[in-house]
Amino acid sequence: RVSAGRIVASSVEQSYIMIKPDGVQRGLVGEIISRFEKKGFLLKGLKLFQCPKDLAQEHYKDLKDKPFFPGLIEYITSGPVVCMAWEGVGVVASARKLIGATNPLQAEPGTIRGDLAVQTGRNVVHGSDSPDNGKREIALWFKEGELCEWESVLTPWLIE
Ligand code: GDP
Ligand code: MG
Repeated sequence: RVSAGRIVASSVEQSYIMIKPDGVQRGLVGEIISRFEKKGFLLKGLKLFQCPKDLAQEHYKDLKDKPFFPGLIEYITSGPVVCMAWEGVGVVASARKLIGATNPLQAEPGTIRGDLAVQTGRNVVHGSDSPDNGKREIALWFKEGELCEWESVLTPWLIE
């Protein structure tokens, strides 16, 4: 797939990462994108987007019976979000580590939530929890043609 061909396409995953409306409002967009860029993942899709209610409900459908669900949908649709598709080997689990625990007070310092947030209901960023959900969520949030197929010149400096 890349470099000397030691990475095979089947091991490359994509994660759907989203900066939530609080992250946008608080001016944390650059800071959050920067963490994934600096780590060495490849940005394949990026847009600022006002999420409609039905899309928010579909995205979080596994949580629809939770008491916080209506508040969660209100939160996610309360302003623009930044939708991103990040690619790399192990990107799904690694992004979850970079993001930190769901409750920002329990998230380790050094993680996005650990450094930048204080409440579960305002935890600034979303990351897919499995490669399958990465695929599902990217297909849900991006339309045909919105992802870019490209190779970074940095790849040989990141992957041996
Ligand atoms: P995540 O994968 O770490 O984002 O966590 P979950 O998949 O469990 O929940 C999805 C999102 O729902 C979280 O990121 C929070 O924004 C929200 N959420 C989860 N649990 C709670 C809760 O107990 N209270 C509130 N207000 N929001 C919650
Ligand atoms: Mg989740």
